[in-house]
Amino acid sequence: MVQKVEKIWMDGRFIPWEEANIHILTHSLHYGLAVFEGIRCYLCHDGRSAVFRLREHIDRLFDSAQIGEIKIPFSKREITEACKETLRVNQLKEGYIRPIVFIGEGVMGVYPGDNPVRVSIITWSWGTYLGEGAIEKGIRVKVSSYTRHHVNVMMTKAKICGNYVNSVLAKREAMKLGYDEALMLDTEGYVSEASGENIFMVKNGLLKTTPLTSILPGITRDSVIRIARLKKIPVVEEKFTRDELYTAQEAFFTGTAAELTPIREVDDRTIGDGKPGPITRELQSAFFNVVRGKEPEFVEWLDYL
Ligand code: PMP
Repeated sequence: MVQKVEKIWMDGRFIPWEEANIHILTHSLHYGLAVFEGIRCYLCHDGRSAVFRLREHIDRLFDSAQIGEIKIPFSKREITEACKETLRVNQLKEGYIRPIVFIGEGVMGVYPGDNPVRVSIITWSWGTYLGEGAIEKGIRVKVSSYTRHHVNVMMTKAKICGNYVNSVLAKREAMKLGYDEALMLDTEGYVSEASGENIFMVKNGLLKTTPLTSILPGITRDSVIRIARLKKIPVVEEKFTRDELYTAQEAFFTGTAAELTPIREVDDRTIGDGKPGPITRELQSAFFNVVRGKEPEFVEWLDYL
């Protein structure tokens, strides 16, 4: 359950949690065209709070809207400030921020006409996304029976709500079968992404991740690539297959919610010795140092409250 907070930002003003409701004729609810972001704010080592890579998340929100032909009725600066203000008014020192831009009520039918574009920002406390112990011990992953989107069927670079029907189906299937997360293959059969994460694998010291062609350009993915480069860990963006992943020595997921979560098993094959490997651990601890403001090289990624 999402822990209740006092206020939700809706269309430019704060309203009480209980009043943050929408009409049943909200166009996005029926046809799935809405865009959103997932952002984290961390309590830093010096007691201040900082939102991680807020600028990049707001840029991606506006890119998603551009792809979906949705005109956001606020500036980037206004949305950026509203994200931080929503944390402040709810007295959250650490938490998750969910801006969502959706098409409101007016006409029905697939064509959205001039229905109003509405924006809301919700914040809440969110711990480990992929379950108890996931960050420390790693998770069990299943290659999904659902294929990830084709680039001309859904807009894979946009964080469009409707895209997540594929994620929900895949995630539910994996959970029902007793796994923690679903990994999807692309329409050519190469490894793509998980229901809400990008993937990395390690073999013989080389870090490999899926190219951006048909996946969401993850901000955590980008952060890990940059951290790896600084640490002189070789990293390539290259397609790989599920059998290559089966023989990886290490693998992990990245995502704002999932952070850096090790993978200890794929389709019942143990990855490495079934524990987070040395490169995974090194990147994971560097990542948590970065988000908590302990790495001076990356402080420009932090937007202090
Ligand atoms: N792929 C998908 C499908 C996602 O939903 C997410 C989460 N936003 C990611 C990748 C990772 O993106 P990020 O690191 O920016 O959260």
